[in-house]
Amino acid sequence: MSEPVLVLEDLRVTYRTSGGAVPAVRGVSLEIPAGGSLGLAGESGCGKSTIAGAVLRLLPGTAEVSGRVLLAGKDVYELKPGGLRAVRWTAGAIVFQGALHALNPVQRIGDQIAEPMLVHQTVSTPKAAKTRVAELLESVGIPARRAAAYPHQLSGGQRQRVLIAMALACDPQLLIADEPTTALDVMVQAQVLELLADLRRQRDLALLFITHDLSLLTTYCDRLAIMYAGRIVEEGPSGDVFAGPSHPYTRGLAAAFPRIGDRSSRMAPSGLGGDPPDPAALPAGCPFHPRCPLARPECREAEPALRISGPERRAACILV
Ligand code: SF4
Repeated sequence: MSEPVLVLEDLRVTYRTSGGAVPAVRGVSLEIPAGGSLGLAGESGCGKSTIAGAVLRLLPGTAEVSGRVLLAGKDVYELKPGGLRAVRWTAGAIVFQGALHALNPVQRIGDQIAEPMLVHQTVSTPKAAKTRVAELLESVGIPARRAAAYPHQLSGGQRQRVLIAMALACDPQLLIADEPTTALDVMVQAQVLELLADLRRQRDLALLFITHDLSLLTTYCDRLAIMYAGRIVEEGPSGDVFAGPSHPYTRGLAAAFPRIGDRSSRMAPSGLGGDPPDPAALPAGCPFHPRCPLARPECREAEPALRISGPERRAACILV
């Protein structure tokens, strides 16, 4: 077995705000092996993007982080600034949602893709960088001659491809894709996701894919981790979790998506009622109990720990 590319050990992130402490991530432990893929799902505000930012130490100064993040064997929170610069882009890179905001509007895309390579000296000369930019653009399905374009001269799908090319520029071992296709229409979304899957296979790239769309994660990831109120509430092989969720929250999340051709699921969606809790004022006991159709009095007493719910599966529910 190869060493995992990413290990999170009891990761906790609390934001200090004027209104008090807001615990966004509360003790998350996960691993992604080389070439493996993990899909992180959950409603908005459950802590998914905070985890993405924590892996590369991109969180704002108001975030207090504890636990360990090991990226390619290095403890990210023990690194000095030089060491941190070295692991960003080369060990792990991130693709954000909304490429228009992530790209510099007044710099040509070729120069933006070349920049991390020149900074990290993965190429020795600007000429070599130009050749590599052409290869990267072709690999994401954009003609190399478009390197001279500015972001506004490309379509939304092309801009997202540019972000992927940029993230791959320094050959990272881990790619974090944080809602990479949410802003795209369905056809372009499918093209970009297929591209990501191909690149991952070709490069033996590990992937942390974050989205609220469970069905997408099931298609593109080996394993799924479901988050609620800052914790993992279910984890396991993606097909098994999607086909037979152990946790009532996962069941609600899976039922929230209408199925193509199934008129009844469109007319009467059977998803989750209510809203996720305020992270600063979580209910006592299981934080899902106010919305859980199976809740019972003892669910209010203590927050359930993750326990084995099947082969390679865990879930945090007293009924497991
Ligand atoms: Fe529902 Fe209780 Fe399980 Fe929480 S512990 S998910 S409230 S049944």
